[in-house]
Amino acid sequence: MTAKKRVQDYFQSILDEYRASDLCKVERIIHSPQNANVLVEFPSRSPVREVINLCANNYLGLSNHPEIIAAARKALDEKGYGMSSVRFICGTQDIHKELEDCISRYLGTEDTILYSSCFDANGGVFEALLGEEDVIFSDELNHASIIDGIRLCKAHRHRYRHNSMEDLEHHLHLSQDKRIRLIVTDGVFSMDGVLAKLDEIVGLAEKYDALVMVDDSHATGFIGKSGRGTPEHFSVGEKIDLITTTFGKALGGASGGCVSGRKFLIDVLRQRSRPYIFSNTLSPVVVAGTLKALDILQGSSALRDTLMENTGFFRRRLREIGLEIIDGFHPIIPIMLHDAQRVQRVARDLYEEGVYVVGFFYPVVPKGNARIRVQISAVHKKDHLERAANAFETVARRHGILR
Ligand code: PLP
Repeated sequence: MTAKKRVQDYFQSILDEYRASDLCKVERIIHSPQNANVLVEFPSRSPVREVINLCANNYLGLSNHPEIIAAARKALDEKGYGMSSVRFICGTQDIHKELEDCISRYLGTEDTILYSSCFDANGGVFEALLGEEDVIFSDELNHASIIDGIRLCKAHRHRYRHNSMEDLEHHLHLSQDKRIRLIVTDGVFSMDGVLAKLDEIVGLAEKYDALVMVDDSHATGFIGKSGRGTPEHFSVGEKIDLITTTFGKALGGASGGCVSGRKFLIDVLRQRSRPYIFSNTLSPVVVAGTLKALDILQGSSALRDTLMENTGFFRRRLREIGLEIIDGFHPIIPIMLHDAQRVQRVARDLYEEGVYVVGFFYPVVPKGNARIRVQISAVHKKDHLERAANAFETVARRHGILR
């Protein structure tokens, strides 16, 4: 047997295992813009059909907003399609600086640096700022991009138990000899819709002289009184040193991300952060679209209000039906089914009933915690949510999972 065939057989056996266990991720193909209803094709199962979309990060419904499309189109005409360069060589336009300033004003920070994605932002922050003399404390449920970013740097690291301030304090206490201490947490944990305890975290940071970094990807634009995210929700904005966030969710959903925070830290990132220095800059189309999204958000609270109303309504309906959900107020609503195969079957049946959801199971969530994660949007009307809730009831009854 050739080496190539041996390697192929090895990977084929891995893929066969996925298929046999019914845990293979199958991408559905969307034939329409992102919206409350989408036209979806489930390869090899059914023709294209219109279904209610409950699994996009389109929290504010801006992914297909006419004003954003118009702004992006104008930028395409006036600024071109691509920059063909990293920022420090010849990839910075006036609108890139404008977006950085706009985000800093919006988040109430000193400065902001753009990245191609929040994954890159998290990948580029730790290695640039921390070394062997330093230490990072990271919530065990932090996003994969934070975990990977930490892996790239030489600092000591401690994973504290999810949202456990006792465990965080224990590690802080034992690390007082380190030069820089950095606590990093998701603002909202993406699989649970649960917020980090930022008020308590900043208290511990003050006590142990640590910096605080928050990934607010699932909060920027809609959490907090004026949508500025979890630091605003907990009234601790001044005490957060670094915020990373994405433009790929509530802010129009195209792509892009940033690190925003203390100017001396952002200045260092511009000199050292590898995904910033060695990767192409954002397309002018995305920059202009994100600027317009921020403009819309600052002009009115209507989308945020609708999102929160829709979320409250759907959470209430799921509880009335008798489904087990993780409590909270965030538009991420995890419906706990625990068993991975059951999650797959329920998601497929919901699709047949006209509702598009995706199941999550190990390794994305811990074993035994498989779930369907629903995401509510401001673009949903009551009718969409009522029909979706009825479909959940029908399918849940069929599978015997009502409490
Ligand atoms: N951080 C969190 C908490 C996320 O949920 C995600 C996306 O899933 C990211 C970072 C990555 O964002 P982006 O899509 O901009 O790379």
